[in-house]
Amino acid sequence: MPYECFADEVAIDFPSVGRVVERMRDRFLGERADADVLRADVSLSKHEASSGLVVPIAVPVRTTCARCGGRGETWTEPCADCLGAGESWRHHSVRLSVPRGIADGARLRFRLRVPDASSIRVEVRVAIRSATV
Ligand SMILES: [Zn+2]
Repeated sequence: MPYECFADEVAIDFPSVGRVVERMRDRFLGERADADVLRADVSLSKHEASSGLVVPIAVPVRTTCARCGGRGETWTEPCADCLGAGESWRHHSVRLSVPRGIADGARLRFRLRVPDASSIRVEVRVAIRSATV
């Protein structure tokens, strides 16, 4: 892994209290609930949901292009890696702890802090498969 990272501020809320939690967070952190949140879904079996597990997820992180240093070009050519954008995306692996007994539709939120990139808020929605595999 090129970066050290950690996921913190993990919060769980269930759909019935979601609105209250979002209002509280707006008040305390002054952040809009839907601003710049990356959303992802994880699908769990009933067994996984009841016993809890760690799910590896890949979060796309926008960083300064390493090839051109954010200029978008190398000498006179547009940068081939970022196509002139000066930014590149890389997938950042995170191990997400899912607490046992999590409910279908629950959301796990955390903030990912990566050097050389702005912090990213991630919301992972839990879907529990009805079929037992
Ligand atoms: Zn570049």
